[in-house]
Amino acid sequence: MLNVLFSTRQEAWGEYHELLSSAFASAGLDVVLATDHAPETVDYVVYAPNGGLQDFTAFARCKGVLSLWAGVETIIDNPTLTQPVARMVDDSLTQGMVEWVIGHVLRHHLGMDAHILVQDGTWQPHFPPLAKTRAVTILGLGALGLACGKALVTLGFQVRGWSRNAKTDANITCFHGPDGLKDALRDADMVVGLLPDTPATTNILNAETLALLKRGSFVINPGRGPLIDDDALIAALDDGQITHATLDVFRIEPLPVDHPFWAHPNVTVTPHIASTTRPDTASRIIAENIARNEAGHGLANLVDRSAGY
Ligand code: NDP
Repeated sequence: MLNVLFSTRQEAWGEYHELLSSAFASAGLDVVLATDHAPETVDYVVYAPNGGLQDFTAFARCKGVLSLWAGVETIIDNPTLTQPVARMVDDSLTQGMVEWVIGHVLRHHLGMDAHILVQDGTWQPHFPPLAKTRAVTILGLGALGLACGKALVTLGFQVRGWSRNAKTDANITCFHGPDGLKDALRDADMVVGLLPDTPATTNILNAETLALLKRGSFVINPGRGPLIDDDALIAALDDGQITHATLDVFRIEPLPVDHPFWAHPNVTVTPHIASTTRPDTASRIIAENIARNEAGHGLANLVDRSAGY
């Protein structure tokens, strides 16, 4: 029998407890799932940072912490968290991100605002270019970035990707490492930020790197707020180097009401809704991951603490 502690925001218990219980049963696991196990009795923690659990010191027999979130920047540096941490990688989370990214790329590519926002009786046909004429750079070719890149390829875009380690893909031009960043960004029509928040990715989109993009290009950031130097982005928008930025994530969330992004005519703010963990599929992922670990195969999707994601 395994004791699994559910430590996320309180309201999530109602969404998850039946789904997780049946997922554990389907995975052949005998689990007591609760929100109040004594720490020293816990075998696994299902975790989200908004559950309030900060001190893992007493979780002496815990074999793993399974994050409901894909981004782990708020827990990675916790010195009491010495247990293996698995992040959320789930097809539904990925599909949500693909749909959000495709929607916002197409909005800018097709110039949809011209007709959605202005219905003034004038008839001025202006045909958008085809996707094959546009270069889209995805910063981050992980679970989410790669799926978005592949979806953009199917629409015909010229897709480039940038990652930490070298990658190859038949249809995506891949760059990696600090030396590959400039080539990944140079003359791109759009950049999509899907990097994790780590010391190495902070302000990766700054005055210098934004200047590499094609003049009049677009920035789309569903990754994490610190990827962008906010002041540099606003300067690039004001100067016309960037036509529009669609931002889902911010250094401070909720984005403070007096932040200049809210008032800027060429910024679209969405409230961290690009994608979300879905309880039905996430419950299955967690149960299967614990079953895998119990069978001696180790947890999948482990966080690499030295890399920070
Ligand atoms: P992954 O860990 O699967 O992918 C991260 C990618 O970033 C990898 O390709 C990795 O390279 C690359 N990377 C990391 N550090 C660097 C670096 N220093 N230089 C170059 N490349 C780097 O993460 P996911 O794709 O699952 O998620 C990405 C991020 O999306 C999450 O960390 C989270 O912040 C955000 N997110 C946002 C959501 C939203 O609703 N807005 C929802 C879910 C996630 P390599 O492949 O070589 O390891």
